[in-house]
Amino acid sequence: MEDPKELSADAADKITSKNVPDVFASLYTGSGSFEKHEKSPFQAGEGSGEYMIVSWLTTNRCNLKCRHCYQNAGESKEQELTTSEARELIDGIARAGFKIMIFSGGEALMRPDILELVAYASSKGLRPVFGTNGTLLTEDMAVQLKKSGATAMGISLDSLDREKHNVFRGGEEAFDRTIRGMENCRRIGLPFQIHTTVMDWNRDEIIDIIDFGVKMGAMAVYLFFLIPVGRGRFIEESALEVESYENLLRAVMNKQKEIPIPIKPTCAPQFTRVAKELGVTLDRRFSRGCLAGLTYCVVSPVGMVRPCAYMTEEAGNIREKPFDQIWRESELFARLRTKEYGGSCGKCAYQGICGGCRARAGYYHDGNFMEEDSYCAHGLRMKGEAKHA
Ligand code: SF4
Ligand code: SF4
Repeated sequence: MEDPKELSADAADKITSKNVPDVFASLYTGSGSFEKHEKSPFQAGEGSGEYMIVSWLTTNRCNLKCRHCYQNAGESKEQELTTSEARELIDGIARAGFKIMIFSGGEALMRPDILELVAYASSKGLRPVFGTNGTLLTEDMAVQLKKSGATAMGISLDSLDREKHNVFRGGEEAFDRTIRGMENCRRIGLPFQIHTTVMDWNRDEIIDIIDFGVKMGAMAVYLFFLIPVGRGRFIEESALEVESYENLLRAVMNKQKEIPIPIKPTCAPQFTRVAKELGVTLDRRFSRGCLAGLTYCVVSPVGMVRPCAYMTEEAGNIREKPFDQIWRESELFARLRTKEYGGSCGKCAYQGICGGCRARAGYYHDGNFMEEDSYCAHGLRMKGEAKHA
């Protein structure tokens, strides 16, 4: 395979209005307004059951060893949900009113029953989508996924530099295989989007990765912000990081004005405030920053339901109670749904569209996840602790 930098230019040349699959066509003919584009099936927003999302971490097995993996994936955990338990989970998810089901992992494509479960979710009216490292996405697998009812693939790409990506992902051929996975999806008309984990070392590449996504025919670029656990207990010590985080959100939202596909910062709820400050109109499905426990939750490989992958609080296990009952009755979700926040978030004019990261709030406040999200430039400004107003 060619050098990645050349590859991106080459890929761009290959995408013309003639060979872009229909599903992407609108991305190339639109006027540049965010709201006119083909919608990514991953998009979510509070207040509409249509966009409720559940992410099932299907397995702990993975063929890579990514450094940031919150699952610490590798070997499969004992007692992962069986096929029949997974079908019961899907039944509960459908009963609870969810519409979008993310199959993630570990690496979801390593589950032998994955196609059967995707087909089952689809038969229950759910839109199955994937979070995958893309390395197992052969053309044949892409075709089978599409036939089973998968509606989109979220494929992880953390750098346009092959070596950097490979080192981070812990696989010598990861980059080439991931790019091939995207090309396979494009070839057979299975929509895909790029998922990039934002870290110090790739921060300067984010805008290039977004451009690359446009050229490759991705329908969106999702940026995943790591929750800064373990980086110092008090926010004052990381004030510079807060500022650089804010600057990156501003750069990304300014970029949104220029490109024809949605950019979605994930687990960076302040992006909704930044968009408003910059006059960027977001799709109504991005109407709220943090969705944990409101229109989103995750289910672990062994059936534990949590508000999100970064929150350790548990709402219940589907082996003990059906998923829909946990979703309706859990005290943890009830507390999140009060939206009664402490500190800056409680006083903030943007709390309705942002909500702060509840995982970070818990981290910085001894587990009190309803406290303020201290990783916010606006919150610091309200307290007179940041430079920029
Ligand atoms: S609590 Fe934080 S990490 Fe979890 S969904 Fe909300 S923004 Fe994302
Ligand atoms: S203070 Fe809280 S609600 Fe307001 S923008 Fe910051 S994180 Fe969001």
